[in-house]
Amino acid sequence: MRLDASVIPPSNRVRMTTDCNTSLLVLQDRDMNVQRIERSLAELPNERATTQGKIDGYTAEIEAGRQRVKEMEVRGKSIEAEIAEVENQALKYKNQQLLVKKNEEYQALTHEIESTEKKTSELEEQEIELLYELDEARKTQGESEVEWNEKIDAEKRFLGRLDEKESQLNSEIDAARAALAQVKGEIDPPSLSVYQRVSRGLKFPIIVALRDSKCEGCHMRVSASVEVETRKGTEITTCDNCGRILYWDA
Ligand SMILES: [Zn+2]
Repeated sequence: MRLDASVIPPSNRVRMTTDCNTSLLVLQDRDMNVQRIERSLAELPNERATTQGKIDGYTAEIEAGRQRVKEMEVRGKSIEAEIAEVENQALKYKNQQLLVKKNEEYQALTHEIESTEKKTSELEEQEIELLYELDEARKTQGESEVEWNEKIDAEKRFLGRLDEKESQLNSEIDAARAALAQVKGEIDPPSLSVYQRVSRGLKFPIIVALRDSKCEGCHMRVSASVEVETRKGTEITTCDNCGRILYWDA
């Protein structure tokens, strides 16, 4: 429950005999506000790093995809070079064949020529298969890049919003700190010191209602004397379980 003076019904405000409790509630409200702004500002570097990490991840995906396409292109070129080499070899055999005299040498070259032709057709098949795969890979890469770039743009817009959030918070923080300092100055030092002691190590809210004999902070039943003191409201009373400052709320 968010607690500040404005949420306490007027009837209860009357019961809080000290103005001090009301000031403390205002103090708590402003304290929480300053802490909220500070927390938001402190989270910004993390949020930025996470967002930048996503952008880097998508960029790396694009790069990896391009690299895969490039590798296929290189493989295609190497198959082409191999085909040229094998065809060149076949041509050499054919020229040699024109010069040989012996039948068995002629036959051996015929065999070599046949095997180079077989090799050529195998390589050509590989090339066709690769070209088909390359075509697919380029298409997929193009589509993926559109998607990744959309994601990158979204993250970049988010980074822009974080910048806006930062300037907004920076413009709020000074006013919030000034408002906090102002109310601190208005509270009597003993009450302020109780508040500061209680606020250390406890989670907000640290000023809570005492309702049905229970502390609204820790939900434990308080002792009878704490209840009596809180009801009187002449001085600051704290919960004997959790230490939060109590105000009476019948
Ligand atoms: Zn308590």
